[in-house]
Amino acid sequence: MRNVSFRTVTCGGQVHWGTTVVKRDVVEHPGTAPVVVWLRQDLRICDNPALGEAAASRRTVVPLYLLDEDTPGRWRMGGASRWWLEGSLRVLAAQFKALGSPLILRRGRADRVIPDFLAEIGAHEIYWSRCYEPFARARDEALKTALKAIGVTARSFKSALLFEPFEIKTKTGTDFRVYSPFARACMAMGVQAPLTPAPSRLIAPKAAIPSDDLASWELTPTAPDWAGGLRANWRPGEAGAKARLAAFIGKIADYKDGRDAPARDATSRLSPHLHFGEISPLQVWRALEGVTCPNGDKARTEVLWREFSNHLLFHTPTLPEQNWRAAFDAFPWRDARAELQAWRRGKTGIPIVDAGMRELWQTGWMHNRVRMITASFLIKHLLIDWRAGQDWFWDTLVDADLASNAASWQWVAGSGADAAPYFRVFNPVTQGQTHDPDGAYVRRFVPELARLPNALIHQPWTGHASILAAAGVHLGRNYPFPMVDLISARDRALSAFATIKKAA
Ligand code: FAD
Repeated sequence: MRNVSFRTVTCGGQVHWGTTVVKRDVVEHPGTAPVVVWLRQDLRICDNPALGEAAASRRTVVPLYLLDEDTPGRWRMGGASRWWLEGSLRVLAAQFKALGSPLILRRGRADRVIPDFLAEIGAHEIYWSRCYEPFARARDEALKTALKAIGVTARSFKSALLFEPFEIKTKTGTDFRVYSPFARACMAMGVQAPLTPAPSRLIAPKAAIPSDDLASWELTPTAPDWAGGLRANWRPGEAGAKARLAAFIGKIADYKDGRDAPARDATSRLSPHLHFGEISPLQVWRALEGVTCPNGDKARTEVLWREFSNHLLFHTPTLPEQNWRAAFDAFPWRDARAELQAWRRGKTGIPIVDAGMRELWQTGWMHNRVRMITASFLIKHLLIDWRAGQDWFWDTLVDADLASNAASWQWVAGSGADAAPYFRVFNPVTQGQTHDPDGAYVRRFVPELARLPNALIHQPWTGHASILAAAGVHLGRNYPFPMVDLISARDRALSAFATIKKAA
């Protein structure tokens, strides 16, 4: 055993170092078959229980990443996620090289590639961290059974979540449908697991194992190369994730007040790192536990929303495809492709909506408050099916996550579990005035409005033509008129909702 230091941080940003006891890295146990660690959404070496266990087995460890071809077409990684994956794998490959056992890249269907790979290298054991997407669970279960039949042991580990969706239950033994009691149950259960230390070295296979060339997977865009904004804003990989966490802890005093202000950089921006498993929720949780002001607790409640989304997806695997509340199946959605396209491109004529959609397009991320505003506008003011918005987010977000995306879209639509009531329609103008009072966020992403006075920045159409002209704004020419009248569109949404209420 050896001692490993960890740090706790107070609101003022002071760092305290503590000590915990962890298992020591092991020396080679010669003459035994290698163990494969199949990395999926756990692209890190610290606090990776599957890797830790393999390293502790005293055997050759072969880390494998498979570009899988069995995810259903609609849920294949979107463009922004693929860009992220490439960066993350580059970092991971360098980390494994430094540990002594190179990362092997293969592509194909897991049910074919994995058994062949194990036979090729003479492995009888494979470890992985559990995934929770319904198709990934089905794949893993089938694979486990098939491997067992050929004498291979597959072991899976909890690593992407703090609480297994099947271990948190109501008092009557059912799954949760409401966030608050779910969060209370999580807090009551507590998080006991120790952090798993990174191995300091791995025993490499005796002979080199063939691996795909990462570049041959063509994960990053070239013609055109639209990823400049992503490169400027993100640093995929474990070191980038740790830097984000440290920066977040350093500014946590601003979290509670600042987290709803999109112009302020007050939130962690850990979501893509968490999605790809470059940092574990346990590492985030432990860092937040060390914060000695209430903002640490607030941030932990947000991490629990991620857990809750996975809980919902686990117990309702149709969440990304079907309304959680069946009454919404009769909702009179509009087929309005031109309006959907204007929303995607940030050309709706509603400044806060356009700023959000352009932030997404340029950086691959959007502030949570603005995600709610843009989603509400699409669903309620335009009456466009939440699934169309979900699909666009899936393609463009670097943190696109099946559980969080689906649960959040259904939450905004009112069709989900514990959802916002459908009749609560966000007014994007008052939302903008409240959360972006001086328009700094809009000015950043909608530069054609940058010179408008504060009073008009969220509703330029109410300004006198001379004031608009002085600010260089020419509605209908360099910035659109609002694509809907907000008052009548709200009334239309409420009438549409009334029809399904009546039908229900
Ligand atoms: P912080 O405020 O720093 O929170 C810390 C972590 O907690 C986040 O990184 C995230 O993992 C988790 N978290 C925070 N809020 C939520 C939430 N409401 N639901 C679930 N987890 C949360 N989040 C995704 O990770 N992937 C998605 O695809 C996604 N799609 C969304 C779609 C819509 C319409 C909406 C309204 C929200 C969506 N979210 C999604 C949730 C939320 O917007 C992001 O998790 C958050 O903005 C990420 O920023 P952050 O890391 O700075 O968050």
